[in-house]
Amino acid sequence: MIPLNRKTQISKLAEFIADEFSERNLTLLNEIAKFEDVPVHYDNYEDAFDGMLLYDTDSNDFHIHINVDNGNRQNSNRGRFTLAHEFGHFFLDEHRLGLKYGLLEPHASFHNINQKSLIEEEADYFASCLLMPKDKFRNYSTEYRRQTGNRKFSFDTILGLSESFQSSVLSTLIRFGEIGTHEIFAIISKDNIAKWFVKSTDFPNWKFKFKIGDVVPKTSVAGEYFTTENKKYTGIESLSTDDWFNPPPDDNRANRQMYEQCSYSDSYGYVISLLWFD
Ligand SMILES: [Zn+2]
Repeated sequence: MIPLNRKTQISKLAEFIADEFSERNLTLLNEIAKFEDVPVHYDNYEDAFDGMLLYDTDSNDFHIHINVDNGNRQNSNRGRFTLAHEFGHFFLDEHRLGLKYGLLEPHASFHNINQKSLIEEEADYFASCLLMPKDKFRNYSTEYRRQTGNRKFSFDTILGLSESFQSSVLSTLIRFGEIGTHEIFAIISKDNIAKWFVKSTDFPNWKFKFKIGDVVPKTSVAGEYFTTENKKYTGIESLSTDDWFNPPPDDNRANRQMYEQCSYSDSYGYVISLLWFD
């Protein structure tokens, strides 16, 4: 976990840079690389890493390597997150100086949801602030719903944000959980196993009816997907809070209508279940 004051420091820097290099909602990563004189190499490195920042002691400069074999094509949402993450290592003094003076080993960065070291968490956080600056992100959350006539919140809001900011669905979801305009809870599962979750601070802290690392509840939409020959339900389903949680009996918030909508990642095989209330 990144301490709060460090988060503030990282977001200030990232959002300052985003502000200098942007066109409406889009942060112009290639312009940043040009301005900083950091060559970005897109190449085939099999499954060695997603991205890597290297310091060249001969030429005294930094290079960023992006692995297209892992799906990080230039200007794709995934490629953009990977590049923004490497910028985190470049712009955060502790990371850049550490690499330059050999205090930090050059490391393989991976775009995944597994347990990460603090410097990886910091670079991810930098990337999400760089790609999705707070005010623009929050403004567009409401603007999108007005524009599309989708007055009610749903997964479409997340997908609309992901499209406008050209950020991956997963990173958009994480950002929305942190600064979004609606309370959400999302469970990421794979092969019928709950892998990870994202929760807004204002979403109730109820006990889960599932365990991370264990099967997802059968009556949830994701559960049905895994148990019924992978039939995909992408619509908004009404369900009961106790399909996913064990709320205390005296908590009135549990009586609200809860919704679940799933998004399926074919290339990575995971399912995102988004839960919310009216
Ligand atoms: Zn990294």
